[in-house]
Amino acid sequence: MTTVNDLAYVHSKLIDCRRCQLAISREKIVFGQGPVEANVMFVGEAPGYYEDISGLPFVGPSGTLLNKMLRVMETTREDVYITNIVKCRPPDNRDPMPDEIAACLPALHAQIYVIKPKVIMAVGRYAVNTLIQAPKFEPITDLLDQDLLYHCPKSNISIPVQAIHHPAFVLRKSRVGDNQFVERNLLLMRKAYQRFLKDQPI
Ligand code: URA
Repeated sequence: MTTVNDLAYVHSKLIDCRRCQLAISREKIVFGQGPVEANVMFVGEAPGYYEDISGLPFVGPSGTLLNKMLRVMETTREDVYITNIVKCRPPDNRDPMPDEIAACLPALHAQIYVIKPKVIMAVGRYAVNTLIQAPKFEPITDLLDQDLLYHCPKSNISIPVQAIHHPAFVLRKSRVGDNQFVERNLLLMRKAYQRFLKDQPI
């Protein structure tokens, strides 16, 4: 039997979700992937084309880069939990809208409540601004080096948040010869892992 403390229960509440207009155009709901015991949770922005078709987060080109970064960190995506701020693909990969983010937020809160990660890696500007509930939308460059917290409304505990550049942005920059962002992301990830995981498994 699943309970409110189970991921399966949270997932079951989203089956055939119609809480926002993204339900009309989506193919599959992309709930999340990874072990419930994960110490690290990656939260991206929204599913793209490949995620919408497969129902899995970060499986397109952004996911390939994320996998590579995890390998450099001597871990794999099987060790971390991966999800998004919104669970359905916005048409033409447009940015998620505030009402769509608001409709999906209870599911994200519930996922974080169940998983209780030691650190949340906020992948891109939408993820970090949503997770820290920024009163006004901040550029990600202003947030990368800040000590940030996610506040869990259900448990009342706070969890450290590390912002990183979105892999789609990193890939766009690399295509025009600007290769500094992979290294920057790896440094940020390493710093967060050392601070918040210490000797524990990822
Ligand atoms: N970009 C995201 O933010 N999330 C995904 O799952 C895929 C691409």
